[in-house]
Amino acid sequence: MAEPRMLWGARARATWGLRCPRCGRGRVFASSWTMHRSCPACGLVFEREPGYFTGAMYFSYALGIPIIALGTLLAWLLLPHWPLIRLVGLAWLAFLPLVPAVFRYSRVLFLHFDRILDPDPEPAEPPPGRDAPP
Ligand SMILES: [Zn+2]
Repeated sequence: MAEPRMLWGARARATWGLRCPRCGRGRVFASSWTMHRSCPACGLVFEREPGYFTGAMYFSYALGIPIIALGTLLAWLLLPHWPLIRLVGLAWLAFLPLVPAVFRYSRVLFLHFDRILDPDPEPAEPPPGRDAPP
């Protein structure tokens, strides 16, 4: 099935709502840690190949590291006499409740990013003089 183009506003809403990169309606996650195998609305299979979501690791870093850096900065402002390693440890502890959200958003961001760069191919045009298949 050809993948229709999703406009940027619709894509941003779908990403924020953790929705399917093709239809923008179906939920990607069934629970905090469990993904649907395919979109409940349009049937798009989310994992294109084994190990597909390894690419989501980059988005996880991109989301997590700035949060931890900001947390370290805030901890340094509040506790300037503490050594850096303790400040980073404190920021990590404060970050732990955000791990499920970072996990989900990193996967959904990767899904949308991948679908923008590599959508499903358009169906081939039938040769001239032939009718399209039903
Ligand atoms: Zn869908």
